[in-house]
Amino acid sequence: MSKNNTMNNLQISTKCIQLGRNSNDQYGFVNAPVYRGSTVIYNTLYDIENRNMKFNYGTSGTPTIENLENAWTELTGAAGTVLAPSGLGAVALALFATTKAGDHILMPDCAYRPSRNFCHDYLEKYGITVEYYDPLIGVDIEKLIKQNTSTIFLESPGSQSFEVQDVPGIVSIAKKYNIKTIIDNTWATPLYFRAHDFGVDISVEAGTKYLGGHSDLLLGMVSANQSTWPALRKAYDGMAMLPGAEDCFLALRGLRTMPLRVKESEKRGLEIAHWLKDRSEVTRVLHPAFPECPGHEYWKRDFKGSTGLFSIILSNEFSKKGLASMLDNFSVFGMGFSWGGFESLIIPFDCSDYRTATKWKPGGLALRLQIGLENLDDIKNDLDEGFKRLRINS
Ligand SMILES: *Cc1c(COP(=O)(O)O)cnc(C)c1O
Repeated sequence: MSKNNTMNNLQISTKCIQLGRNSNDQYGFVNAPVYRGSTVIYNTLYDIENRNMKFNYGTSGTPTIENLENAWTELTGAAGTVLAPSGLGAVALALFATTKAGDHILMPDCAYRPSRNFCHDYLEKYGITVEYYDPLIGVDIEKLIKQNTSTIFLESPGSQSFEVQDVPGIVSIAKKYNIKTIIDNTWATPLYFRAHDFGVDISVEAGTKYLGGHSDLLLGMVSANQSTWPALRKAYDGMAMLPGAEDCFLALRGLRTMPLRVKESEKRGLEIAHWLKDRSEVTRVLHPAFPECPGHEYWKRDFKGSTGLFSIILSNEFSKKGLASMLDNFSVFGMGFSWGGFESLIIPFDCSDYRTATKWKPGGLALRLQIGLENLDDIKNDLDEGFKRLRINS
């Protein structure tokens, strides 16, 4: 928007409406057009020798990309943002920006599994030592710091298992040793957790989830504070892994309704989580807003809200055969990865085969649910029927 000087006083939901567009530059139209492009034409020898254009070539950005980058920078309170073609691409970009051969990095044991794979398959290949830590370690992370530790990665809450981390505690230790911190903040979004306000250097979000919000795009955002921004921008310019223009346009469209959708997901997630808590088939609800969730006290202290993704642990009386009957025959829930769209999803998961710093022993089968925008009674009836199948076939 043109009236950027008044932006600071506005609430975040108003900012989501106003950021990344400027009707005065768009013949009055509300939405910005999609710029596609590789080549930029320079008018004079002076201009081309001095790269004297706002955009120099498609890899360094377009107005469409810049609209989304600037909007995200404002929402996250960062110094700058770069985009990636997926959330995983954003994680990789962040780690490239803060690491080099010979470094030691600390990864939480609850990290999104493809992030772990990236560390194992690529960072280790380039001579970086990757050590996993208990996500609930808090300030005791100090004991794991080595002379060559360059980066502490956080993911809060953890993928699938939902441990909430003591972000300010870990950041205070990192700062003491001049170590960079990166957080995967996909679950909370900047609406409910502004990582840079807690001193985190780089915040990564998968735009595939709540920003896109319609299960029709892949995108990642990486934002950095002032001290880390030059290194992040350099890593981005070095690789030129950028999203397509259409996906940025869809993300800007998603931005307009994101606060509404996230708030509704929170309400629905809580309602279904409480409903599930009362079921005899369920022994535990792993939802950051529930006291039984590991790290709940940090969620209460640091987060402004919760979103529509959480997990449950089933009583150990149920069999895989019962689970198959439950999951194979839902009429509302779909079985699929990703989340943050309009539709309800459910997946089985088991962290025990890849965790290395902690043991995953939930005492029963584990399911992750994303609550969509369907009628809540339909959702409950679908789950109720599923539990009946689980019982009969176990
Ligand atoms: C989905 C997800 C990602 C990756 O996003 P993609 O766009 O699917 O690559 C990263 N981190 C978390 C926590 C996620 O849930």
